[in-house]
Amino acid sequence: MAAIAVEKLRWTEKALHVPSFSEMTSALSTGLNENFTEVSINEVECPDLTAAPFNLPACGLSGSPTIIDAGGPPYLLPLVDRTKIYDLADIARKALPNVESVYVCGAGAGPHPLINSNCEGIFNLKVNSDGTIVNGTRIARVTPGEELCETIKVPHLETRFALLANFYLCEGQSGKVLHVKCKKRVGTEDFITVCRKAVKAAFGDKHVGVGGVFLLKNGNAHQHVMRDFSKVPLLNDDDLNNWLKFYDIPGTLVAVGTFLSDDMDLDLRVQHFHSLSVDNKWGGHYHYDTTPNTIEYEAYFNVGERIIRMDQPVDTHNFGRD
Ligand code: ZN
Repeated sequence: MAAIAVEKLRWTEKALHVPSFSEMTSALSTGLNENFTEVSINEVECPDLTAAPFNLPACGLSGSPTIIDAGGPPYLLPLVDRTKIYDLADIARKALPNVESVYVCGAGAGPHPLINSNCEGIFNLKVNSDGTIVNGTRIARVTPGEELCETIKVPHLETRFALLANFYLCEGQSGKVLHVKCKKRVGTEDFITVCRKAVKAAFGDKHVGVGGVFLLKNGNAHQHVMRDFSKVPLLNDDDLNNWLKFYDIPGTLVAVGTFLSDDMDLDLRVQHFHSLSVDNKWGGHYHYDTTPNTIEYEAYFNVGERIIRMDQPVDTHNFGRD
């Protein structure tokens, strides 16, 4: 099934508030210190993210940092709209048209026509101006019958995604980023929720968007993988959680995605990260760690300058946002 042509997609762009790294450090420090026993936050030169354990297609997170929120849960729930197929390479080129290369990473629904089944996407794609791409995207699915988690590297030219996704885009250049490390969780909320609420508390009504990559080490994560599309309508969060397949998966995990201080009246998903284990055995949607005493997080984040809202659902609802 072909993707919807990018010029036919509803497309809204808004500027985001861009705090300095020292303001971000102060904001995150307040929230993280209330929830973890050891915290350090520094402005650093981004390490080469093409190296292990990250193995991303681009070396850094700098150059025209942009957040994209595409589609939304109303295209999945109560019943799937199978026509909602998008091409991430075309979208990346439209979002950053005059640059040498675009790196895009994030969390969303994988290209179901590829395997004739619903799946999660852990998206990692570099699109160069000469038309070549570096494709590091993998999908995660629930195997039929045994219901195991399986990840699959997509074919090199497969750049589609479906239904809903949250992406961080940039030129993939090295440059300054925020390096966030924390250990031993004593709060009740997950790492990304803590970061998001800390940013909201510090910047109030100013809209801030953050994207990048984090490692979850020395512990396990509660994650979900979507089963194949439900044949019966999923009408609320209980229906949804019975349909999702949850796993307790061992780190080290590499997670990519975005978080935003609020939904800006654009029906945004305010946080969304998908992870892949370093051995590629596990993938899926990060909820929280299940090993607070040993857990360690290490993140490289950059702050978005603008948000693009793409194909926002007209008829919406308010479940399926966890
Ligand atoms: Zn997800």
